Amino acid sequence: MLKIIIVIILTLISFSLNGQDPGKILTSVFDEALTDTTAYANLRYLCKNTRGRLDGSPMAQKAVEFTYKALIAAGADSVWLQKVPVPSWERGFEKCRITSTVKGSNDLSISALGLSVGTSEKGLVSNIVEVHDFEELKTIGRKGIEGKIVFFNRPADNKLINSFSGYGSAVNQRTQGASEASKYGAIAVIVRSATQSLDDFPHTGVTRYEDGVKKIPAVAVSTKDAELLSQWLKTDSSLICNLISTCKNNPDTWSYNVIGEIRGSVMPDQYITVGGHLDAWDITEGAHDDAGGCVQSIEMIRLFRKLGIKPKRTVRAVMFMNEEMSGTGGRTYAEEAKKKGEIHYAALESDRGVMSPRGFGFDADGIKLEKLQSLSKYFIPYNIRDFDMGGGGSDISPLKAMGALQIGYMPDTQRYFSYHHSANDTFEQVNIRELQMGSAAIASLIYLIDLLDY
Ligand SMILES: [Zn+2]
Repeated sequence: MLKIIIVIILTLISFSLNGQDPGKILTSVFDEALTDTTAYANLRYLCKNTRGRLDGSPMAQKAVEFTYKALIAAGADSVWLQKVPVPSWERGFEKCRITSTVKGSNDLSISALGLSVGTSEKGLVSNIVEVHDFEELKTIGRKGIEGKIVFFNRPADNKLINSFSGYGSAVNQRTQGASEASKYGAIAVIVRSATQSLDDFPHTGVTRYEDGVKKIPAVAVSTKDAELLSQWLKTDSSLICNLISTCKNNPDTWSYNVIGEIRGSVMPDQYITVGGHLDAWDITEGAHDDAGGCVQSIEMIRLFRKLGIKPKRTVRAVMFMNEEMSGTGGRTYAEEAKKKGEIHYAALESDRGVMSPRGFGFDADGIKLEKLQSLSKYFIPYNIRDFDMGGGGSDISPLKAMGALQIGYMPDTQRYFSYHHSANDTFEQVNIRELQMGSAAIASLIYLIDLLDY
């Protein structure tokens, strides 16, 4: 009995902050986030003034400088840059014209895939073979593929309710298609954009070459033009394609993670990291992916400062560089943390867009997960109810080996892949209130997790 009473008392103590109860703190966090426009203005700046923040580009540097200043303005105790090695890939001229004896000529809406090798300035001229998966390459075989352009046309599985799963059902064509087709002698690949939308935007993203396999050019085609190309091939399977994409890989260069922190009042040597990634594809403002996650992380610092919330642990906002191409920002951050012997208690990533918050995913189970789920009651007034197992993000995943709880911010993601990696991911696609609700939710969760001592 005595033990139970002690536990209850300890729980009560651990859930009080400056004599206030967490529910009241959350009210103040939401009130402030929903009536202040700093994060929205920061988002506007990143979208309109640093569009196309590709690693190593002048725009990426401008974004580094801007967020450095924004973290100072938010009230961080200290702000610094962490040097990160990054690839330097550059888009060139790109054009894809198909010519059919039946239908005439048409230019497809394409975008080279990140890290892809290019064609010559005249480009490639060849027939196209349409496939839907790697098995089909095997079935057709070298005889039918050698010297041709392979067109991967498997749509995302729209029956999957989780839009990330739908994306996942199609994305291996983009990430591995070039090398898989090259094994059969293909000279280039055209990949249907990995999105549930039927639109005119090519959605780019990284492609990865397998060691020892000849590198061939790879481009994404808009889903509408993928449909059109497929129809044309049905009426004229020997149509001719002229593909030009003069992108190139330059020598690796350097950029930065941008880090700002509020020192912990009780356990300053323990860290909670909240982040998004600052880099974005060159063809986009990168509003949802992921300027939004960056400004929400900065906003957490501002909210804590403005409201006088003094976290027990050191809380950091991190703008990771190079999430898109090879993840060196996240790895560098974890390596430095390890070198310094930092204890990483938890890490949250916001990289699923900044639509209306639904909840959080936790890479935890058992009693730990139950404790985390017990926090959901504080979010009921805000209609944020999903506290589930499974979550994280690619930038924070290297911290997992150091014991950091992995948390993924989970907004509604049904619209996310309409924007993802395309010119459609603009500032105008972000709703101010949804952005603010997300910032408040993230700051609230971090405040509660710091209290929880799971
Ligand atoms: Zn992203």
